[in-house]
Amino acid sequence: MKTDTNIQFIKGVGERRAKLLGKLGIRDAGDLLRFFPRDYEDFSAVVPIREAPEDKDVCIRATVLAQPQANATKAGITIYKTEVSDGDSRMQVTIFNSKYAAAKLVPGRKLLFYGKIKRNFICTEMSSPQMEEAGSGERIRPVYPLTLGLTSRIIEKIVANVFELCAEDLKDTLPEAVRAYYGLLPTREALRLMHFPGDMEQLAQARRTLVFEELLTLQLGLLMRRGVNRIKAGCVLTRDCSAEFIASLPFTLTGAQSRAVKEACADMAKKWPMNRLLQGDVGSGKTAVAAALMYSAVKNGFQCALMAPTEILAQQHSNTLKTLFENTGTDIRLLTGSVPAAEKKKIKAAAASGEAQLLVGTHALLEKDVEFAKLGLVVTDEQHRFGVAQRGALSAKGENPHILVMSATPIPRTLAMIIYGDLDISILDELPPGRQKIKTYTVDSSKRQRAYRYIADHLDNGRQGYIVCPLVEEGENELAAAETFAESLANGFFRQYRVGLLHGRLRPSQKEAVMRDFAVGKVQLLVSTTVIEVGVDVPNAVIMLIENAERFGLSQLHQLRGRIGRGEHQSTCILVSDAENEQARRRLRKMAETADGFEIADEDLKLRGPGQFFGKRQHGLPELKIADFYADMAVLKTTAKAAKHLYASDAGLEKPENAGLRRAVAELFRSAGAQDF
Ligand code: ADP
Ligand code: MG
Repeated sequence: MKTDTNIQFIKGVGERRAKLLGKLGIRDAGDLLRFFPRDYEDFSAVVPIREAPEDKDVCIRATVLAQPQANATKAGITIYKTEVSDGDSRMQVTIFNSKYAAAKLVPGRKLLFYGKIKRNFICTEMSSPQMEEAGSGERIRPVYPLTLGLTSRIIEKIVANVFELCAEDLKDTLPEAVRAYYGLLPTREALRLMHFPGDMEQLAQARRTLVFEELLTLQLGLLMRRGVNRIKAGCVLTRDCSAEFIASLPFTLTGAQSRAVKEACADMAKKWPMNRLLQGDVGSGKTAVAAALMYSAVKNGFQCALMAPTEILAQQHSNTLKTLFENTGTDIRLLTGSVPAAEKKKIKAAAASGEAQLLVGTHALLEKDVEFAKLGLVVTDEQHRFGVAQRGALSAKGENPHILVMSATPIPRTLAMIIYGDLDISILDELPPGRQKIKTYTVDSSKRQRAYRYIADHLDNGRQGYIVCPLVEEGENELAAAETFAESLANGFFRQYRVGLLHGRLRPSQKEAVMRDFAVGKVQLLVSTTVIEVGVDVPNAVIMLIENAERFGLSQLHQLRGRIGRGEHQSTCILVSDAENEQARRRLRKMAETADGFEIADEDLKLRGPGQFFGKRQHGLPELKIADFYADMAVLKTTAKAAKHLYASDAGLEKPENAGLRRAVAELFRSAGAQDF
């Protein structure tokens, strides 16, 4: 039988169960083989009753001593009790309400009892154990994620049937040579052992094999996708003009910045479009790098577009670029949703004619009637805020322009190489000189008044500060919550100060106004929701208090904190939290300990998985079934090498021995909706 046989036609399934399995995402036989157990119960590790630990599942092999006694309670539950013995000690077995289970307790019968035991000074007891025949049941049993109406035992049985029926159709994914070199199992064997391991070691080997296969497939697929991009001709920059721009800057580039500029300029001189990620912690100076590249593109006669996720940020970029490009005679325009219609029309005309050389904007740049005469370079800031499709839409306005995406969310390099396997990466791992480390403290809410006083002291000294509102669900009540919170501060503790309020529900023009007031010092204290998260640059703001800090992700806290510490003054960040659980405390401790975004990202990845670094689907990566980017980092590094070798020797995976991998790549990327395969 084929593995793509509809699950309904597998022995033991039928229409009703097929529906239930469908709820678990299982449509055909192959799906079921890759529906892995979420856990295992080890019925093979039999322990004597006397030595069995409490509060942990154990397996006892014992003989039933007597017919169970049935007792009906007032609540209508029947309780069956009997005693069993393993030859050395006795144990009481209690069953609730299951006549079927109680019927297994035949005096003299030897059974395996799997469950948790409880001890008191009279006896040892196990309630509602799972029971299996001794002699044949001593195995490791799979435990599956369940849906109502299906038990692990039912699924186990069906899985066994699938193996029996489809065994021949299970082909190897890896070429024999790769499998042998890395000491991996044949695919069929690995799948079987995932469901029915003989021992834990076999299970580990099976998992390693499948993780390896999955990550290798992913990385190969990404390499191939990048290869496809490479075929297209881009806009070749024949002259690298970045040096003259860099010389005109009021500061010297950091080593990391110079490296990034060099790498990107080398890309843009090639015959295929650049596809590069510029990753750098907040304040690492990504804008200057992008500016140098845009300058070079403009000098080569191309237009550039810079897209930012918010109006504030776009405005800020536009201002920065106008300063940096002063005296270069570059035509820079800002296009956002709040630009008046007549003005918009003019900007669009200038872009279409080629008169506008540098177009900065928000999503407004994506509008259909925004056209370019000769778009050569597209820069996207805070790229995780945009979907793959949106980024694509902007590049589509040119003929395969060069692409630079910038991200302030530091992702551990190994992970970035995987996630952005189809991008080249430059990392700014160095801050411009003279930055002071931000002092970070965690306090509980009993210290809030003291923290307020501390903030007030700073305001009295002419500095500015932020208070970040408690996090509420996005939507209707964000406004109300933020307003109430701000009002209570503005009319309460901080009534002698000029307090501003910033939240996501303000109209863009209102936001602009508040930000402008804050930037020029008219507002001393900015009470804000997380909308200040991205890129706002006010060097005089030196203190920040974050309410309910435990509710934020570490990377998000790091982004918020990056709003201060941007000037010459010592900055302080106060995290307010009453969280008591150890994980939350550990995360907040981490914030106080380190200012290194990469270290923080690493911790975040460990604690919360990679999901937070990008929206679930928008990164365009297929969903993995078994591998875990963090736990399997070591395998990831190995497969990265293996993928490079394979790709170098057979880029299209056309050799017969690579057929399994080619199939796997097509399958994995089909689920991600990729078109290239
Ligand atoms: P981010 O990487 O967070 O986007 P920015 O590009 O906004 O950082 O830069 C942060 C600040 O650092 C800006 O005020 C910028 O002018 C300044 N800056 C950038 N590069 C340097 C440098 N090499 N030396 C000194 N200051 C720099
Ligand atoms: Mg920035």
